[in-house]
Amino acid sequence: MVDLHVHTTHSDGSYSPEALVALASKYDVNVLGITDHDEISGINPAMQAGNHYQIKVISGVELSIEYNLPEPGHFHLIGLLFDPVNPSINKRLSWLREARRNRAFEIINKLSALGYPVSAEEIEDDLKYGSIGRPHIAALLVKKKVVSTIAEAFSKLLRNGKPAHVPKKKLSFAEAVKAVHDAGGLAIMAHPNSLGFKTYPELGEEILKLQKAGLDGIEAYYSRHDRYFTEWLIKFAEKHNLAVSGGSDFHGQAKPDILPGIGTGDMNIPVSVYENLIKFHIKKYT
Ligand code: AMP
Ligand code: FE
Ligand code: FE
Ligand code: ZN
Repeated sequence: MVDLHVHTTHSDGSYSPEALVALASKYDVNVLGITDHDEISGINPAMQAGNHYQIKVISGVELSIEYNLPEPGHFHLIGLLFDPVNPSINKRLSWLREARRNRAFEIINKLSALGYPVSAEEIEDDLKYGSIGRPHIAALLVKKKVVSTIAEAFSKLLRNGKPAHVPKKKLSFAEAVKAVHDAGGLAIMAHPNSLGFKTYPELGEEILKLQKAGLDGIEAYYSRHDRYFTEWLIKFAEKHNLAVSGGSDFHGQAKPDILPGIGTGDMNIPVSVYENLIKFHIKKYT
């Protein structure tokens, strides 16, 4: 089976690329797309490990998009099958990484000013690979016994509207699509359920608008999509010539109910999804 949406220690996942590939092989994953937030340094080590486990590892990244949506919607764009050494995408990613570092220090300063026992030195290790996010700070707050769970760290302190919240710098849709296309990749809307649209037709209308602006496809298979939504998305993609992708959004600790390949238990993305993405990719770029 296929899983084209997973996170490693190179962003907010708790498994190293090597450990994640080993785990994915236990769940019979044959094709794995590494999609760390704003970070692509986990792809190469995962590819190396993939050779050992006979898993095909493909390039991926997950970008947060600045976009006007109904609350509490958010828009993530997955780039797939791009060239990881392309300078255009790397320039964008460096900018995002720098912004994430600055934001992490701002959050630490806020927490410290609120009287919580955290300091900048304690996130140094998390900065090694670049893409630091709120989950790292949430884990630190658990370790320091400020809160008892990651979820509590978010709901009490880190979420929008809470005392240690700092907004994240994001790319516009046009900037993100350009970075992915410059590097020869496909731009896929991640977990379309998260955009916050109340009805399928409203979401569909938005997808078509985005397709005109460069969107290549949609993540129809996803851990938290029900069967009906997945089927609707697949049909919609067929009708409108959109690529179909899918993945678990495995993080390890940060989302403990989600496993590679099978998601919350019954996801099973056929290898044909990967084969069709390759066909779409070839058609687009030749
Ligand atoms: P950031 O990109 O730093 O804003 O952090 C967003 C990430 O935090 C998401 O990708 C999730 O992995 C994680 N996250 C968001 N909300 C929660 C929550 N309530 N509990 C646990 N993890 C969360
Ligand atoms: Fe995440
Ligand atoms: Fe996401
Ligand atoms: Zn994700």
